[in-house]
Amino acid sequence: MLGMLGGGQLGRFFVIAAQNIGYQVTVLDPDKNSPAGAIADVHICAGYEDILALTKMKETCLAVTTEFENIPAATLEFLEEGLIVRPSSKAVSVVQNRIHEKIFLRDNNFPVGEFVIITDVASLGLVKNDIYPAILKIAQFGYDGKGQIHVNNYKELEAAYKKFSYKPCILERKLSLDAEISVVLARGHDGEKINFPVVENHHVSGILDISIVPARVSNALCTEAVHYAEKVASQLNYIGVIAVEFFISNGKIYVNEVAPRPHNSGHYTMDACDFNQFDEQVFSLTGTPLKNPKLIKNAVMVNLLGDIWFKNETLSPPNLDLFDGSTTEVLHIYGKSEARAGRKMGHFTVTGDNVTNLELRAKEIKDLLSKN
Ligand code: ADP
Ligand code: MG
Repeated sequence: MLGMLGGGQLGRFFVIAAQNIGYQVTVLDPDKNSPAGAIADVHICAGYEDILALTKMKETCLAVTTEFENIPAATLEFLEEGLIVRPSSKAVSVVQNRIHEKIFLRDNNFPVGEFVIITDVASLGLVKNDIYPAILKIAQFGYDGKGQIHVNNYKELEAAYKKFSYKPCILERKLSLDAEISVVLARGHDGEKINFPVVENHHVSGILDISIVPARVSNALCTEAVHYAEKVASQLNYIGVIAVEFFISNGKIYVNEVAPRPHNSGHYTMDACDFNQFDEQVFSLTGTPLKNPKLIKNAVMVNLLGDIWFKNETLSPPNLDLFDGSTTEVLHIYGKSEARAGRKMGHFTVTGDNVTNLELRAKEIKDLLSKN
C-alpha cells in the first residue's frame, strides 16, 4: 500500500500507474469527489493536517508521496517519523515557497532572472525603477498564474502588494521570452537519475496550454536545461519525480520554478514514451531501479480547461466523440465533479512523426472541441 497526499489529476495518474504495477494506493484528500480518491483503493477524506488520518497512513502505507506542492511541511515531517516520505519535507519546503526557492537557486549559482524579495512595505523601497515591467508573485500557494499581478511602476507595485494583503512576495523582472521549456526528471534513493525529453511549453494567461516534444530549441539549450534540472535534484537531495521550468530569453536560459512532483508538461509521456512520469514516481518511491524512458513518438499535448464546458455561461460539455480510440489521438479526462473556467478538466495528446503536422492537428481538434 502506497500513500498519496493530494487527490487531483496528478494523484489519479499516480494511482493508475501504481495499480498497474501491482500496488494499492491510499489517497488523502479532503474533497469527497477528488479525481484520485475516486479510483484509489482507500480514500481517506480528511484534511492534510488531520492527525488521525496521517496516523492511519503511517499504520497502513509502506511509503508516501505527494502530488500537491502546498502540502504543509509539518505534515511531511510528521509522516517522516516512521514512514518513507519521498520527496522529503526538506526538499518540498524549499520549492513550495518562491522566496526559499529563489534563494536556493541564486545561492547555488543557477541562472535566474532579476528579482527582489518583498517581505514588508519597507522592502518596496529597495526596488529599482528599471525592473519594470515586472510581475509580483505571492510566495506561497500560487499556481496556474494565480497569485501573480503584472506591475509597470511603483504605484502599481504598492497596489498589488496591498491586494496580496502584504503577504511575502517575489517581484520579478518580466523577461522577453524566446521560448519556455521544461524538464521532468526522476532521482532514485541511490542518486541515480533519469530524465524525459525536453518539452516546449506555451502558456495562455499563465496556464499551460500546449506542450510540444521534442522542444524546438537548440541542442545546446536542451543540454543546459537537463544539466540544471539534474543539478537542482542533486542539490536538494531529492528522491522522486521533479520538474524544472525554464525561460529562454535573448538566447539565454533561466530557471523559472521547480515543482516537487510530476508535471502537466510531462503528460505526453503517457502516450509517447515506454515509461511515463508516473511510473517513475512509483519506482523512485518504492526504491525500484528507475527505467530509462524512451520517446517512441513525437507528441503535442493540449490542456482542456473548463471554459469549453460552457456556452454563453450555460453548461454545455464538449462533444468528445471525435476521440474514437485511436492510439495517436488520446483523450484523458480527469473525472472532476464540476467544470469551472480555468480549471484543468483533461488533456489530449497527438503523437506521430512530424511535429508541425501534429501541432496543426492538435489545434484543429482543440478548435472543434471549443466550437461545441
Ligand atoms: P505558476 O506556473 O506557478 O503559475 P510561473 O511563475 O511559472 O507560475 O508563471 C506562469 C507563467 O507566467 C510562466 O510560465 C510564464 O509564461 C509567465 N511568467 C512568469 N514569470 C515571468 C517572468 N519573470 N517573465 C516573463 N514571463 C513570466
Ligand atoms: Mg510555472
